[in-house]
Amino acid sequence: MVTSFDIGGSFIRFARPLAAGLAVEAGRVPTPLNSWPDFVDALRSCLPDPAGPAVISLAGAFDAETGLADVANIPCLHGRRVASDLSEELGVPVQIINDANAFALAEAVDGAGAGKDTVFAIILGSGVGGGLTHKGMLVTGHGGIAGEWGHGPVVDPTAAGTLSGIPHFECGCGQTGCLDAYGSARGLEKLHQALHGTDLSSIQITSAWHAGDLDATKTIDVYTTLLSRALSMVVNLLGPDVIPVSGGLSADEELLKEIDSKTRALTLAAYETPLVLRGTFADNGGLQGASIQARKTFKEEFFLTS
Ligand SMILES: [Zn+2]
Repeated sequence: MVTSFDIGGSFIRFARPLAAGLAVEAGRVPTPLNSWPDFVDALRSCLPDPAGPAVISLAGAFDAETGLADVANIPCLHGRRVASDLSEELGVPVQIINDANAFALAEAVDGAGAGKDTVFAIILGSGVGGGLTHKGMLVTGHGGIAGEWGHGPVVDPTAAGTLSGIPHFECGCGQTGCLDAYGSARGLEKLHQALHGTDLSSIQITSAWHAGDLDATKTIDVYTTLLSRALSMVVNLLGPDVIPVSGGLSADEELLKEIDSKTRALTLAAYETPLVLRGTFADNGGLQGASIQARKTFKEEFFLTS
């Protein structure tokens, strides 16, 4: 029997997906962050007896050739070949899927992108991520990085006039001015601090914006402008039918409407209906996406039918 996992910095959640339909959480255990043996034991405790294959949704970068992981929020996984190391420890086949890709797959097959050709799903939360599907299949690309639109400088110190007054933030990837450094929840907070000299949480900033506060309105204007400019180029490149959003900031529907209208104003093709919207699986993309991936990888005999 297949087990699908959604592993975050707080919990390991799991499901036993059926051959079709929605994944229902079967249980959860706290995520061991610093001990590899504890991490393996926690996963083992979630497997059925006898154990079957596992598909795991995990935030992080996984080198397509070497399998080496860069998982910022779970230090004991850093530098490991997570899939093959886990497979060896647990004695079952293990497949890892990046959390943005899992969300994209969930939206493409069962969510806002069901029946549509091209889905570009984005995450606006602790970082800016994305995943791309075409006709219900993931497009992973060279090195597995397809969809990662958050990196590569978009705020250029030399672009005088167009973005004057916008500070240049360093990004975790080593570059300066990446969208990830502005478009994440933390980026929004840094932007507000740089523009107005006040420390507010992302939720305080959006709340102040809703209440008509002028400083917060300016911050949101800059934030949505930066994000929409970058997104409009992605839209022109990929021609997505829909852009479902997950991550902490996706809970603010007004913010998404602002990003949607600014983006649609900048794209070459006309979109008559909203393009950027909160994903059906904004809260559960990992578990659903891992379950769909499991169906694509493993034979039906590994799934319960009811
Ligand atoms: Zn970067």
